[in-house]
Amino acid sequence: MPLHLRILIGLLVGAAAGVTANVIAGGSSTLTRVVTLSTEPLGKMWLSSLIMVVIPLILSTLSLGVAGLGSLKRLGRIAVVTLLSFLCLTALSTTLGLLMMNFFRPGAHLDPAVKTQLMETYKGQTEGAMGLSTSSFNIDLLVKIVPRNPIQAAASGDMLAVIFFALMIGVALTLIPPGKAEPMSRFLDSLGYITVAIIELVMKVAPVGVFCLVFSVTARFGFHLLLSLLQYVMTVVAGLAIFQFVAYPLILWLVARWPAMEFFRRVRVVMVTAFSTSSSNATLPTTLRVSEESLRIPKEIGGFVLPLGATMNMNGTALYEGATVLFLAQVFGVQLSLGAQLMVVMLSVLTAIGTAGIPGGSLPLLMMVLRMVGVPMEGIAIILGVDRILDMCRTTLNVTGDLVTATIVARVEGVRPGGQAS
Ligand code: ASP
Repeated sequence: MPLHLRILIGLLVGAAAGVTANVIAGGSSTLTRVVTLSTEPLGKMWLSSLIMVVIPLILSTLSLGVAGLGSLKRLGRIAVVTLLSFLCLTALSTTLGLLMMNFFRPGAHLDPAVKTQLMETYKGQTEGAMGLSTSSFNIDLLVKIVPRNPIQAAASGDMLAVIFFALMIGVALTLIPPGKAEPMSRFLDSLGYITVAIIELVMKVAPVGVFCLVFSVTARFGFHLLLSLLQYVMTVVAGLAIFQFVAYPLILWLVARWPAMEFFRRVRVVMVTAFSTSSSNATLPTTLRVSEESLRIPKEIGGFVLPLGATMNMNGTALYEGATVLFLAQVFGVQLSLGAQLMVVMLSVLTAIGTAGIPGGSLPLLMMVLRMVGVPMEGIAIILGVDRILDMCRTTLNVTGDLVTATIVARVEGVRPGGQAS
């Protein structure tokens, strides 16, 4: 049975079992114990075993990708197209999120009693997230992209810094004599194979891992919350769905004459993995494999675009951030002028670049944006309870967007997706 079907079964069975458990014993201490002592730790261990290989994977694919591009000129061209595509896609998706929120205005209809109750319930978690949020958007964030100590950067999960270091290794490999570069390239190649072998092992138990993750989310989920926030959730999901199923296909058709159904059929395992893990990083190994094997995008292009995309290109996250800032502004009666909304677009695009590709990675940055546009940060408590469901949806967009960019870059480089010569 193909992998995406097995994962889908894990997802559906996990969701069905979780919802049933929620209906029968929702909120009981027995169910809480079952989740915290069995499915949640198992799910976390599975997710960690995927994230565990991300640093070596980025190091090997990105540096070999850059080295494989051959010349700095080609690297420059590909880098410009990649970054432009990331920026345009992210700005477009954020604008869509804002338009949807302005149109439906779900925040203006939220019951004040629900608001007070949610803020009370999620106060503790909000304080936790506040601790992680950087106080402001300053030049240090930029300075930190260049690591003083790459090992420390890797240890603290500072992805942009790790990416920078991997890029430099790739560039250096093209500058030194081939005889000197070869041992390192072979080492990196072998490291890549090792990570892939580990991932294949881990993916063998993906249905169980996904079952555990989804069961834990649904068994403990407050479905009454979903009802009280239904308008907000529906507006965000509708925005995400429009971008995923209308904007991406349009772009793919325009750029590569690539029929939407065919593209989605080839990348479905990536979409299912992203949806069930809520993590771009955990999905990266699958994204790389699909790009090469199913979309037939040259390895050096995928190896460059996709690791960058898993950290920097977050179309779904930016749409969600922009929409949520506006929603909370509506809830708190903060008027955001057109200028302020443009500022929200800009900040959402910038913070999405720095968001970690892990579940809930955008929350600390979302709080920063809220603070900067004058919406109460504590307001995030209102949406925390439904965040995981939205995280699953936005992560799906995040990784699909990476594959769309890889397709665009391949096209610009004269390669037709699917393997036909241009
Ligand atoms: N979970 C998202 C990702 O990994 C990031 C986020 O929006 O929280 O892409």
